[in-house]
Amino acid sequence: MPAPALVRGRFAPSPTGPLHAGSLLAALGSWLLARQAGGQWLLRIEDIDPPREQAGAAEDQLRTLACFGLAHDGPISYQSQRSALYQEALDRLLATGAAFECHCSRTDLLASGGIHRHCVKIAHRANPAIRLRVPDGCLITFDDAICGHIEQRVDTEVGDFVLRRADGLWAYQLAVVVDDAAQGITEIVRGADLLDSTPRQILLQQLLGLPTPRHAHLPLLLDADGRKLSKSSSALPVDARTPLTTFARLWACLGQQPLYAITSVEEFLQAAVRSFALERVPASVLPVHAAAHNADSASRA
Ligand code: GLU
Repeated sequence: MPAPALVRGRFAPSPTGPLHAGSLLAALGSWLLARQAGGQWLLRIEDIDPPREQAGAAEDQLRTLACFGLAHDGPISYQSQRSALYQEALDRLLATGAAFECHCSRTDLLASGGIHRHCVKIAHRANPAIRLRVPDGCLITFDDAICGHIEQRVDTEVGDFVLRRADGLWAYQLAVVVDDAAQGITEIVRGADLLDSTPRQILLQQLLGLPTPRHAHLPLLLDADGRKLSKSSSALPVDARTPLTTFARLWACLGQQPLYAITSVEEFLQAAVRSFALERVPASVLPVHAAAHNADSASRA
């Protein structure tokens, strides 16, 4: 019998601030899925957007993960050191005509609701953005382990999206696809705010001839006013001094049966790996249209 394929999950925070409950939920969910399958769990710091980053945030995030006992495998990778890989993928897409230079500004695209289908540039820019040409009628579908069957018409709902921004920075969509493939990631577990990015990533995987990992998008945690907790908003960082209280809350958010008589982080994690049931995680398909990354990349395109 062939050996079962290795399961490899990852947590890929952007160092925009300390970890809050929503990001820790993604860390815990992806860690549990990987560990339960006897697989590996990798850490990747997505530091490709310096204007949004906070000095010391990556170190702070890593300290928090350690306090919560979420141990990773292998070296931590930093996207800021991986430009050559992104350039290589971009060059391939440019060479086949799947990607193109675009001089349109955000204002140029106002009339089409920010969706790019053809260039309407008013001024020629010294540093154009590079976009992916999304074919007409492009329908991407996938089955999410939590949210079920997902479909997106990428041409009409998203349009030609940015791969390298006009300010020269790499777009999240390209970098994440290149890295997930280079690191052999088989399971992507992350917040449902990224659900609407997944079809773009699958399209890029198809065009670059890369495998598509399995996906599980976790419910979003909302703040007291019903707003999504986001690293860039004023969400409170998790308190690493009281990990068991935080774990109990996150465990409940994952829809899991309570664990009793837990007195340490290690005990919690061992019991959690034993009893975690993905089918209990509630789906929360919110009508998220443009995740923060996408709005951001568009604004600088
Ligand atoms: N870096 C992204 C974030 O912090 C997550 C990317 C991903 O999990 O695909 O929101």
